[in-house]
Amino acid sequence: MKNFLLAPSIIASDFTRLTEEIHACESAGADWLHMDIMDGHFVPTITIGPLFVQACKRASKLPLDVHLMISDPEKYIEEFAKAGAGNITVHVETCPDLPKVIKQIHSLGCKAGITLNPSTPASALDSALPFADLVLVMSVNPGYSGQTFMPEMIAKVEEIRNKLNALRSTAHLEVDGGINAQTLPLMKNAGATAFVTGNAAFKNPKGTAEGVRALKEIASSS
Ligand code: ZN
Repeated sequence: MKNFLLAPSIIASDFTRLTEEIHACESAGADWLHMDIMDGHFVPTITIGPLFVQACKRASKLPLDVHLMISDPEKYIEEFAKAGAGNITVHVETCPDLPKVIKQIHSLGCKAGITLNPSTPASALDSALPFADLVLVMSVNPGYSGQTFMPEMIAKVEEIRNKLNALRSTAHLEVDGGINAQTLPLMKNAGATAFVTGNAAFKNPKGTAEGVRALKEIASSS
């Protein structure tokens, strides 16, 4: 049976209560903690860096799913690996030679993820697909938390799912951007196996644990 993973995105959490938020995610069944790293250069916003990742590592037993939305990621991969990253995902728009960067990530003992912006065609990942542990489809334009899901990305998930199946790849197919109780099932039907969620988890009126629990239930249900 397939394993469906929920990855709450920590930048949507209340940083003044970081440990509580992380423990709520853990107790409610989150599988990974997703970290959206933005540099104010590849994307307009600046978010968190390696020091914050390190703090989350100290507070959590969950694998840290680090998504680098930064220019020249090769220069910083080692620092994020040392900070405790489990998965490190890089954008094809920032890495012309993805297979080489995947090797670098593997050499540091991390799982390697590859991703692409909504406007980049799925074929941009072809040369690297056989080597990736994780493929991430952005279902919003990267740069801000709280954006609206782009339904056109469902077809891209289907396309990449077919490619991964043809390669007999066991890589996770993850989706990121506007994932909530309505959009998660659409992406799951299209072939996604891991779901990043921001506000739908952390801004639930009944609290973070309930937000995570409800989404995990939808991800796991058949
Ligand atoms: Zn992300």
